[in-house]
Amino acid sequence: GAGAGAGPIAPGSLVVLAGPTAVGKGTVAGHIRAHHPDVLLSVSATTRSPRPGEIDGTTYFFVSDEQFDRMIADGEFLEWATVHNSHRYGTPRGPIEAALARGRSVLLEIDLQGARQVRAAFPAARLVFLLPPSWEELVRRLVGRGTEDEEERERRLSTAKVELAAQDEFDYKVVNSDVETAAQEVVQLMAVSRA
Ligand code: 5GP
Repeated sequence: GAGAGAGPIAPGSLVVLAGPTAVGKGTVAGHIRAHHPDVLLSVSATTRSPRPGEIDGTTYFFVSDEQFDRMIADGEFLEWATVHNSHRYGTPRGPIEAALARGRSVLLEIDLQGARQVRAAFPAARLVFLLPPSWEELVRRLVGRGTEDEEERERRLSTAKVELAAQDEFDYKVVNSDVETAAQEVVQLMAVSRA
């Protein structure tokens, strides 16, 4: 297929990819990144511990609560939030402002609370909500990846209900049935110039 390589990405656009747990945000973002190395995929800081295979500085910057507090105090975050009532996650401001200033496009993979903060800070940001084909499929993906215990899964599914209920706040909705197709749809949204 044409893959996510189809269509140029508008320079200097800030795109937020949000959506419920296990919907495949990371996979879609990774796919876009692989086909469009010019797009900056923001690396967030988080206080949660790494999962097997996650690399510090690539998947996330894994930081302590004290470090996270210091980053907030120093104004280093574009946005930050406590997600699933447990850990904090934040988007470092510096790399994003530098990329946008140089006309590069930026992709943020963050939660609903973060998306709202980005909208307030950057009214021109495009907010994309990634949807699962069905609720049952979302549960299947979460269970299937096997990275959370039962209690954490329940916590994530209750957040997912809240997030799904807010999907109409977003500029665009993309259903993630197939990663390549979904990535291509997001890229097409990034390619459209917007006043
Ligand atoms: P996970 O622990 O599964 O990697 O991520 C949990 C949730 O945190 C996901 O919904 C993800 O989008 C969100 N998240 C990751 N980084 C950030 C961030 O920098 N800011 C906000 N607000 N949410 C984030």
